[in-house]
Formats: sequence, structure tokens, C-alpha cells
Amino acid sequence: MNFLTKFYSSNIGRAGGQQTINLAPRCLTPGTIVHEFLHALGFYHQQATTERDDFVTIVWDNILERYKHNFEKHNETVVGSYGEMYDYGSVMHYSKRAFTKNREDTIVPRDPNAEIGQRKGLSVIDIKKLNKMYKK
Ligand SMILES: [Zn+2]
Repeated sequence: MNFLTKFYSSNIGRAGGQQTINLAPRCLTPGTIVHEFLHALGFYHQQATTERDDFVTIVWDNILERYKHNFEKHNETVVGSYGEMYDYGSVMHYSKRAFTKNREDTIVPRDPNAEIGQRKGLSVIDIKKLNKMYKK
């Protein structure tokens, strides 16, 4: 997401028992709240999917060392796409300068017109995945 990420967090999926979602007051925008709730419901970041390298380039040299693990990919058994396309517009996608150490981009979309990192709310595909995940 961005440098504020350390102030809010959630476990991915159900951790058992009560689930805590940390939201610092400065992060309380609708999109960031939705983002953390989707983690709690089992969503990973969009750019963690196996096929992400077909859609974005990760610029490792620009990422703060201690946050590089946030840019690792997970296989399909961990991050399911539920038959949906890679979603640049997902509320779960990092922004282009997430965890930058030098104000340069850390994620460059292969589609030059793509906008990433919106935090206004669920995308159409976010909603479809949520419905498939919870079988509605
Ligand atoms: Zn997140």
C-alpha cells in the first residue's frame, strides 16, 4: 500500500477466535478500511498473484529492504483468482510507489493506461471474487 501500512494490518483469513483489525485514525478512509476487512476475509494483495509479472513489473531496487517480503508472489493455492482477470483496479492492489525508498516507482503496470492503488472502495472484480469465495 504505502508507508502508512505499518499503522494498520490484519491477518489473512480467519486466524481462529476473535480477529483484530488495526486501523490508526489517520488511515480511516473508506478504501483502507475495506482493504483491511478484505484481508480479514481471506484476500491477499492483487500483486501477490502468480500471474502478476504478466501485468506489472516489480522494481526491486526501489523497495525499502525491510518491506521486500510484501512483494513476494504466492501460488494459486494460496491466492486464488476465482476465474477473474488480474485487476489493476482492485482495492487490494498496491500503489505504484508502495514502500519506495527513493520516491521512484516500485510497481510499474505493463498497461501504460492502468491506474493502481485506488482506495475508494471495492472494484467490480473485488465484489465478484468476494461472492465466489463466499459462494453467493
Ligand atoms: Zn494490505
